[in-house]
Amino acid sequence: MATGTSVSPGRSRGGGPASYLALREYHKRAYDFLSVALEIDESGKGEPTDAIDYYSRGVAALEEGIACDVYEVGEDQEKAEKLKERMISNLEMARDRVNVLLQGGALKGVSLEAKRPHLQPTASLRVHKITPPREPTNKKKPAKNPVMGKPRVSHIKGIDHQLADKILDEIVDQGELTVTWDDVVGLELPKRTLQEIVILPALRPELFTGLRSPARGMLLFGPPGNGKTMLAKAVAHESQAKFFNISAASLTSKWVGDGEKLVKTMFALARELQPSIIFLDEVDALLSKRGGSEHDAMRRIKNEFLQSFDGMHTQEGERILVMAATNRPQELDDAALRRFEKRIYIPLPGKEARKSVLRKLISKHHNLLSEDQLNKLASMTDGYSGSDLTALAKDASLGPIRELDFNALKSVPANQVRPIGLNDFQLSMRTIRPSVAKDLITTLEQWNTLYGVSS
Ligand code: ATP
Repeated sequence: MATGTSVSPGRSRGGGPASYLALREYHKRAYDFLSVALEIDESGKGEPTDAIDYYSRGVAALEEGIACDVYEVGEDQEKAEKLKERMISNLEMARDRVNVLLQGGALKGVSLEAKRPHLQPTASLRVHKITPPREPTNKKKPAKNPVMGKPRVSHIKGIDHQLADKILDEIVDQGELTVTWDDVVGLELPKRTLQEIVILPALRPELFTGLRSPARGMLLFGPPGNGKTMLAKAVAHESQAKFFNISAASLTSKWVGDGEKLVKTMFALARELQPSIIFLDEVDALLSKRGGSEHDAMRRIKNEFLQSFDGMHTQEGERILVMAATNRPQELDDAALRRFEKRIYIPLPGKEARKSVLRKLISKHHNLLSEDQLNKLASMTDGYSGSDLTALAKDASLGPIRELDFNALKSVPANQVRPIGLNDFQLSMRTIRPSVAKDLITTLEQWNTLYGVSS
């Protein structure tokens, strides 16, 4: 959460010269305020005046940032320009919302003019005192997805109802979607980007129309086992969308013969049941540059996919998002890349993220790992993916059990099994090794530099 008042060295408060990084800080600060505002606004739990207050602080931070003259050159200059554009659209959104709240009589007994100055351009900001946002008091519990239960589809025209039923049984998550942002450890930048381009438009669809229409396609790429699927599920959960989860490879294996029809029916269902997210895992299996070597069935499925994709959002306000995941983005063809406007890199976890994943994994078991030992373990597991860490912790947790002979194992009370220690992890690390090759990381990082969303 932003602390609000600090200004980095070398950065002036609005209007002065600033680096790209300084601009990002303004954006982050604004984002934190606007997130609190939205939380209050949407949950209806706080006072509208509080929401307006936070919107105003967000507006102030955005205005300060936008007023800066960025002195970067080359790539950083381009990134700064893009970021400014985004800040300007966030600014409009926040101002619009405050105006709606003000006009809606949200401030009974409070003078409109007393609040409006915060929304005026930068002049007012020189005296704008920013205090830290209050932390929301209630930690959000994973609520059940409100779109639970199998929906009825018999009324939908022009689709194969049997196939639709099969899709609902096997591809759509029927309300058991409970992955939240908090479950996905680390990945702050991807989370922030996803919140901005998916969650905000989902919460305030009326603000994101015309030029501000949300992205239709988003690509998550990165080494295997680092939370791409978890993130997609969290996005669906947080935006309360129906979640269609299919792997591109299964279109020609499990759904053999039905692939083309399945794609068409899935898009029709997604439109009918919107808001919807179609998550296409291993998208490279469907949309790669194979050209002449791909077989006919695959080409037909691919064409159907591209056509269905283009048919989305033909009506204003449609809320369907296609999220795709791959470990091989470099194999995607141009037609696919064009459609996935946002491409987000999901990297291997850094040291802090590894520590958090490990801490979370062992927290449910009796263990003796001190903070120092966790730090050490996090350093030792450089190169491990999220799923490698899960495998490692699972193996280490069996260490105390492996020491017991069969008879002891049959009778020992659970609370007398010795706690898991650092030594168990060290032993397990001999067999559970990092699964991601360094070459793959280099390729992915290069691709990210060329095609990824980098701010
Ligand atoms: P793939 O490319 O192989 O499909 P993926 O990137 O989609 O992999 P997930 O399926 O999301 O990876 O993650 C695999 C498992 O690894 C998760 O079920 C979870 O146990 C663990 N994991 C990976 N990343 C994270 C993370 N950031 N936070 C918590 N757990 C994680």
